Amino acid sequence: MFYTLIRGLINLINGTPQRLLLHCIVAFALGTSCGVVGLGPSGFLNPLSIIFYGYALLVVIGAAFKYVVWRQQGLMDPLPNNQVLLQLDHILSVETRERALLGARETTTNYASQPVLFSPPLSGNRVVLVKCAECQQEVKFRVDSLEERKKRRLRATLISSIGFIFFLGLEILLGDAFQPSPIPDWIGWTRLISLIALIGFACSYAYLVNYTGVVYIVTGRGHRARHPKKAEVANFRQSLHLTPQG
Ligand SMILES: [Zn+2]
Repeated sequence: MFYTLIRGLINLINGTPQRLLLHCIVAFALGTSCGVVGLGPSGFLNPLSIIFYGYALLVVIGAAFKYVVWRQQGLMDPLPNNQVLLQLDHILSVETRERALLGARETTTNYASQPVLFSPPLSGNRVVLVKCAECQQEVKFRVDSLEERKKRRLRATLISSIGFIFFLGLEILLGDAFQPSPIPDWIGWTRLISLIALIGFACSYAYLVNYTGVVYIVTGRGHRARHPKKAEVANFRQSLHLTPQG
């Protein structure tokens, strides 16, 4: 358990600013959910919600710090012509090792990776086939135009925000209205369901952080697409500079 936690933290520290922000959003959602459950005699803040909020705060500071550093190194600048860089992995093997002493199971994924650069179409979206350098198989991506990216982001923001605010309001209302008297069963169940919906909507903000305008269409196992790591971004940008212009 402790080992897994440390591994997770190391992975997190090595991750992109977007990944850190994702963690922050999830922790914030969990903190809010714990806070809402604790509403009543103890108030909104209880030990669990404080832990989650504290964690979210730490992670968001880390994300901001990382963003500034990456920016200074020119790794966050938008690519020319609104292109999107993704990393396509060909999974070679997945190894699972039991670490008896540490009481943890460690999973290592071995993969061959290639950078893929996508240019947005003028309108709508289009499916782009990319040939995997490792197995020559063609892998599908959906590439959205700038207009489509804006539309999807706006829609996601609206859906997440309306859902989150609605269920947060419902939780507070029900928690408040039925505080002194014994709580009827249906109120308990409604609160539980709305709490799950609240967590779901809060986590759906993660879509906004993760969405780049290019979506990997899963057609089978063996490949995956992800945000490039720092070294991969740096390498790619360097190769762009080395390419003779015009
Ligand atoms: Zn492949």
